[in-house]
Amino acid sequence: TVSAEIITIGDEILFGHILDTNTQWIGLELTDIGILPAKKTSVGDRYDEILEAFRRAFDRYDVVIVTGGLGPTKDDITKQVLCDFFETELEIHEEALEHVTAFFSKRGREMIESNRLQAALPKKCKYLVNHWGTAPGMWFEKDGKVLVSLPGVPYEMKELMKHSVLPALEAHFSLPVIVHHTIRTIGIGESFLAEKIADWENALPKHVKLAYLPSFSGVKLRLTGYGSDRVALTEELLKYGEGLNMLAGIYIYAQNELEIEEKVGQLLAEKGATLATAESCTGGYIAHRITGIPGSSTYFLGGVVSYANEVKEAVLDVPSEYLKTYGAVSEQVAEAMAEGVRTRLGATFAISTTGIAGPGGGTEEKPVGTIWIACAGPQGTVSRKLQLGTLRDVNIQLTAMHVLNMLRQ
Ligand code: ATP
Ligand code: MG
Repeated sequence: TVSAEIITIGDEILFGHILDTNTQWIGLELTDIGILPAKKTSVGDRYDEILEAFRRAFDRYDVVIVTGGLGPTKDDITKQVLCDFFETELEIHEEALEHVTAFFSKRGREMIESNRLQAALPKKCKYLVNHWGTAPGMWFEKDGKVLVSLPGVPYEMKELMKHSVLPALEAHFSLPVIVHHTIRTIGIGESFLAEKIADWENALPKHVKLAYLPSFSGVKLRLTGYGSDRVALTEELLKYGEGLNMLAGIYIYAQNELEIEEKVGQLLAEKGATLATAESCTGGYIAHRITGIPGSSTYFLGGVVSYANEVKEAVLDVPSEYLKTYGAVSEQVAEAMAEGVRTRLGATFAISTTGIAGPGGGTEEKPVGTIWIACAGPQGTVSRKLQLGTLRDVNIQLTAMHVLNMLRQ
């Protein structure tokens, strides 16, 4: 296998001023084309440290991806280190100079000497034009190995990777074609799912691998196929994905990357139906997720965050004897909340949440993590009890997943 090290440069990363998101993104992308990210390193803006990092990485791995330290400021010394490492020197690169000049004139900005220096590149590199900024990308080869130096700014780095580096790496190492296919499931745990689909999984051919990716929004199944023909492989994976419907169809809501709120939005839009929410323990998180989807205004009418009992009564018409007799965290109140908001807002469907999100506040009868969710629609109202853990944030996210999933049925 072709292996790689990712090196990020910059004091700001080590001092904690910024989070190194570049390494994570690059790791995903390298894996996607079949290169193994074997190591990551972060170094400050110090000549010796950077040189030492290049030496070690280039010694051990086939590919070294470096980000940061290419700007016009004094702290950006990557280029000088690259020159010394590859035993070459800086020289104004004509194409790079034209690019920087055009970049400034297009924006009506004056260019100073330090900007001009951005076009000075190590003689031995292949210049990768950065259409999104002035810092160049640089590709070096030695003994069949590759070192790529990219700007630190995430969107510039990403564009350069997608448009030039990844295709060039695929070609350089004659990497096999890799295709991924993601199947989104919801409402079933990883181990139960694995048991249900065991026969299907065992029947997968050797060139297709399966990964279980659990999260607070359900378990993703990711098929990865290795081959030589992208189109054929894509079709083959789709076929395996469809094959799962027989075994676990009710848990599968999408044969691609799609969040549950998007899926629900599509279903509502297809039906010409509308939605309202009544949230207690989720505090508006569900409405936030729904309105995060472009076009949600066609089906989402609005929601009520009815945290206090008085608001459940006054705004959602939850009968006060329900609150007294059963308590706010109960089947009766969850259902009355959903029905209340559905009637008040005149929506086709409504969902509600009421529970003890934690970490404190539970009782013996209703421990922390006891949550009731309900869904009201033209056919009536259904509710469900969730028994979750003590982590507030996790409980909120899991509740959102389960109640949004109720709208799918
Ligand atoms: P510029 O021409 O903008 O100076 P550069 O190549 O010199 O580009 P840096 O100066 O190292 O890049 O970083 C520029 C900015 O990009 C940083 O201030 C930071 O916001 C972001 N950045 C740098 N490295 C990373 C990283 N590893 N992860 C996420 N963001 C980063
Ligand atoms: Mg910089």
